[in-house]
Amino acid sequence: MTEENTAASPPVPAETEPKVIERRVIDKRGAGLFRQFLLFVAGLLVGANGVYYWMQRDAAHAANAGSASTSTLPAPTAAPVQAPASTEPPARIIVDPHGSEPAVGTTSASVPTPTTDRPAALLIPVQGVAASQLVDTFTQARGANRVHDAIDIVAPQGTPVVAVADGKVVKLFDSKAGGITLYQFDPSGRFVYYYAHLQGYAPGMVEGKAIRRGEVIGFVGSTGNANPDAPHLHFAVGSLGADKDWWDYTAINPYPLLSGG
Ligand SMILES: [Zn+2]
Repeated sequence: MTEENTAASPPVPAETEPKVIERRVIDKRGAGLFRQFLLFVAGLLVGANGVYYWMQRDAAHAANAGSASTSTLPAPTAAPVQAPASTEPPARIIVDPHGSEPAVGTTSASVPTPTTDRPAALLIPVQGVAASQLVDTFTQARGANRVHDAIDIVAPQGTPVVAVADGKVVKLFDSKAGGITLYQFDPSGRFVYYYAHLQGYAPGMVEGKAIRRGEVIGFVGSTGNANPDAPHLHFAVGSLGADKDWWDYTAINPYPLLSGG
């Protein structure tokens, strides 16, 4: 039953229309009105069509513009976002002188190394001798398998020998090679200064005595294995070992330390 109702209802309006048309076709006035109506409807349709088309076109244009603007907008926004993203890493790499900081660290670490491995500038230990008179004999051969590891400062017999720096006398030693010698530690106990071939010590020199830079500690001679015809001071600088033994040290070239100061 419900199927009949639904099937029967649509034809009803379809039947009413022809009836209306038939009435107006019969009536001439109605026909004229109908023509006007048709024209109006046609006009409406055309107008609506036009409006619809215009709206569609406008909508499409708006959509195009929108898509264009959205496509151009995301493009710039995407491009700047990508651009900074792509430029940031290089910037970070450039700003990353963290890579150079270790290098700075190593150079700054190598700067303290000299101060820890070698003492500051030293006073020339022979009175009246200028830096320009010094000769670097640190690497000169002494015998078959021996290197000098010191500096020889030539001066007349009896010329005063002075302390190169503050410190204390740790050993007064008479050796076969060095003759009359004096070992001095620096105040920090890291370095030893060795004076050899002395003619003798200055009065009052005893082991444990505190001495000052420039203080006379002895006199130039030719004791030990030095040539009696060529008196000179044999001077050495050493970096002491952990046990701080006066005989145990690593030689440091005194020349740069003396010529610089
Ligand atoms: Zn020497």
